[in-house]
Amino acid sequence: METGGSPAVAAKKTTFSPKAIIFQKFGSNAIYEVEEVQEPAENGCPGLAISQKQPCLYRCILQLPEFSFMSGTFKKKKEAEQAAAEMAIKELGIQISMSSPNLQEAWDKLVARIAYLFSDEFLSCLHPLSGHLRAALQREGDLYGLIPVPVMAICDSKLSNLCKSINPNVESNPFLVIPLIMRATTSLSGLLASSEEQLWIRRQNPYPPEIMESSVSQTSGPPLSTLIEAVRIPCSLEKSVEPVTLDVSSTGYYMDVIAKKLGLTDATSLLVSRTVGKASSETRVYFAVHQSYLLDTSSDPLNVKEALHFEGSLNARASCFCGQGIYGDAILASIGYTRKSKDLIFEDVSVQLYYRMLISKIPSGVYKLSREAVLTAELPSVFTTRANWRGSLPREILCMFCRQHRLSEPNFSVVSTPLKGLSESTKSHKKLQGIDSTKEEIECAKGGAIATSTSESAESAVTYQCEVKIFSKCQHLIIECFPKDSFKKQNDSIQNTSLKVLSWLNEYFRDIDMPLEKLNSTADILNIRICHENFFKEFALCRSIHNFYHSETQGVKFLEPNSLSMLNTMPGQVVFSLNNEGPDSGVCPSNGSLLFISYSVSLVREDEHMKVILESSDEFEFEIGAGAVIPHLEAVVTQLSVGQSACFKTDLAPKVFILAAAVDSARNFSLLSSESCCLEYSITLLRVTEPLEDRMEQALFSPPLSKQRVEYAVQHIRQSHATTLVDFGCGSGSLLDALLNHPTSLEKVVGIDISQKSLSRAAKILHSKLSKNTDANAPFSGIKSAILYDGSITIFDSRLYEFDIGTCLEVIEHMEEDQAYLFGDVVLSSFLPKILIVSTPNYEYNVILQKANLPSQEDDPDDKTQSQSCKFRNHDHKFEWTREQFNSWATKLAAKHNYSVEFSGVGGSADSEPGFASQIAVFRRMSLLQGDDHPKDDGSECHYKVIWEWDRLTSSS
Ligand code: SAH
Ligand code: MG
Repeated sequence: METGGSPAVAAKKTTFSPKAIIFQKFGSNAIYEVEEVQEPAENGCPGLAISQKQPCLYRCILQLPEFSFMSGTFKKKKEAEQAAAEMAIKELGIQISMSSPNLQEAWDKLVARIAYLFSDEFLSCLHPLSGHLRAALQREGDLYGLIPVPVMAICDSKLSNLCKSINPNVESNPFLVIPLIMRATTSLSGLLASSEEQLWIRRQNPYPPEIMESSVSQTSGPPLSTLIEAVRIPCSLEKSVEPVTLDVSSTGYYMDVIAKKLGLTDATSLLVSRTVGKASSETRVYFAVHQSYLLDTSSDPLNVKEALHFEGSLNARASCFCGQGIYGDAILASIGYTRKSKDLIFEDVSVQLYYRMLISKIPSGVYKLSREAVLTAELPSVFTTRANWRGSLPREILCMFCRQHRLSEPNFSVVSTPLKGLSESTKSHKKLQGIDSTKEEIECAKGGAIATSTSESAESAVTYQCEVKIFSKCQHLIIECFPKDSFKKQNDSIQNTSLKVLSWLNEYFRDIDMPLEKLNSTADILNIRICHENFFKEFALCRSIHNFYHSETQGVKFLEPNSLSMLNTMPGQVVFSLNNEGPDSGVCPSNGSLLFISYSVSLVREDEHMKVILESSDEFEFEIGAGAVIPHLEAVVTQLSVGQSACFKTDLAPKVFILAAAVDSARNFSLLSSESCCLEYSITLLRVTEPLEDRMEQALFSPPLSKQRVEYAVQHIRQSHATTLVDFGCGSGSLLDALLNHPTSLEKVVGIDISQKSLSRAAKILHSKLSKNTDANAPFSGIKSAILYDGSITIFDSRLYEFDIGTCLEVIEHMEEDQAYLFGDVVLSSFLPKILIVSTPNYEYNVILQKANLPSQEDDPDDKTQSQSCKFRNHDHKFEWTREQFNSWATKLAAKHNYSVEFSGVGGSADSEPGFASQIAVFRRMSLLQGDDHPKDDGSECHYKVIWEWDRLTSSS
């Protein structure tokens, strides 16, 4: 070491202690632990040592990232710490000649900057601080020219950056700049005066008159008074946030006005937070530092954590709100000087704005605000396609969240995998085959109708997965997430991963006190890993508010809306107890549809004497099935057809949301505190656009592919002379409905599905058709009974044993592959229909669908390839099979259960590549196996629940 190896000597050259040098080098990674050392009692009796009242001795252990050092014993804790630091410097050979000048330099710069801020020329600058200086020169009496120290750092970023380079802790506790500035000021005593007890600095000599004249005394005439709206955030959570009015006259100092509102005599003990909300705003939280604070300017300026003492307790709401410790009552105001003008700028801050800013701390709040539907929208739980997403995108929300909570920008890394590379893993192997054969087919079809190039198809043979890592400002890892989902578009993978993290964060804020196990298990499901220690450290202030969703509110859970058990199961009767009006247009929403509704949400008192509209929209659009609106709204709206309206009531939403939605928050607040209120939603379904698959099937096929499938099945049913039919996975009943339009030999029709929503729609359609027409000439006059069951088609129910025909159209791809195999076995071994018709998409046909320019209601003209953003035709599909995969499944299945199988399809043709758009297998039972140990309809296995039933006899009587 050049300096001669004596840290004591080296330290003397600078003004910095060994601890300061260690701090400069290691920042908060240097951890000092001081322990008491008992003088060993010779006789082995510890009690003796105490009774002799020997002075306590201390020893310090300094933990550095890779080493730790233990000092000898000292009488004072501080001495032990310095000694440990000195040991570390010596052992690690820290070059004091290298490191300390930086620190010294920063210190010198800080002193120089302060001197400059009080110079003659600075007073007339366009700078936020010079605004304060000019205003301070209008303060009266003893206050004349006094500048509150806390405003210096918030106004001058150079000053605060210098402080940060001296003490990195300033980053997390900005108030630590105050002792640094006070300390630096002491070396400018010829120029500046400062107070030991109060936080102010004043210039010693008056400014020259010409400067005063040009920059300060422009205002003449009577002082104009301006009233500004601000918000008081009481420290006690029992007291509500309320509006306050600041009377800011053109000649006074606004800081004094705020101070008085907080019960202080003037601004000298007022602290100011960082800005909150929009970066451009001057919205800050103001609070008092009480007279009892201690500012020990003689102590090491780098070690002043304890130098400011706050009286009163932490203001949880305000602290959480601005991510900084705020003590006692606080005022939120948007006011200050800027670089743009010499005038004071200000904006009103309403109580509603406070709540809106508060909810923007949580992901769902950001989303709700972006949709302008605080009481209606929810952060969706799945990212389907960019085309269907409304409001701020997940990635934007995540970035905003990180900024809001002063974390580093999220770090995304996208992994692209050529599908070939995945051939090891079995699951991707299937997809690989699909893509590969598609590629071949394209080559075959060259020069034909399909215009494509190999490079394009190569492009689609890559999938993307995205990992995100979130770090604190000091680069400590907080959360990482790497979902397994892969996407054809890079951007989609990023959005998907962002949404996973947001969903988890939302879950956390919903229940901040959730036990660690639950925290971990919810994270696991989403492929998220939390670094607990770092995470809790960053969100400590938010935790102090206990529970975001529940703050200032009692009950949050929703009541069941009036009655959502929409159907009763009396034969031949469907009762909708929802208050829906308007005729049934027959156009209904289904998963993946985009809906347009108009709605209003009102706060009503149970006696209905009081009703205030909180939120409304003439046209609100969302994707159904993605959780984009509150669950009750989604449940109700799927019962409606276009043009119908409904009205339902729910229990109150969390108060923070209600007050963020309501313009007149103060009035509603008093309403809310008078119990027995609820929310009333009135909605009208305006329009529905079908999901991508349906749009595609309609745009590219005539008649639409879905219609062709149904017609194909109807044809077979008529030819078969079947009298009993079961539709496995009947959905909204499109096939059953179509069957009623054709004369057939059918007498009994049954539908099974697991979707309640779809079943209730099917019930509605069938019911209106069957009950309207009891005419003997109706095409379905032969039908004697119709039943809808709720149940899974992978489970046998003996009531459906040995039907003449079974249909299963576009269902298997909605199940996991193993379930599709299971269904095949169950149906051909237990249900034993004489004929079974199964249809499913042909994966190979997708290239054509994707290349087609679909008419779409895209807002985003760049996103021409939207159909590719979904791996399959529909985001609910779990797989799509190539012809080979489908043939192999069906052939093996048929052979195993003694059925024959024939292949066919609709859309396209069997003879030209890439085959049919929808592939179909028709199974026929050859003969029952000898010994006939098949289950019979002895009523023993009834697993399905009857959802709706119609009987010609009971209904016509
Ligand atoms: N066959 C209908 C619906 C197809 S959509 C038509 O062609 O229009 C697929 C349907 O399969 C959905 O309604 C879904 O709820 C249903 N489904 C998926 N898995 C199921 C299961 N295990 N048991 C019963 N129905 C199922
Ligand atoms: Mg499907």
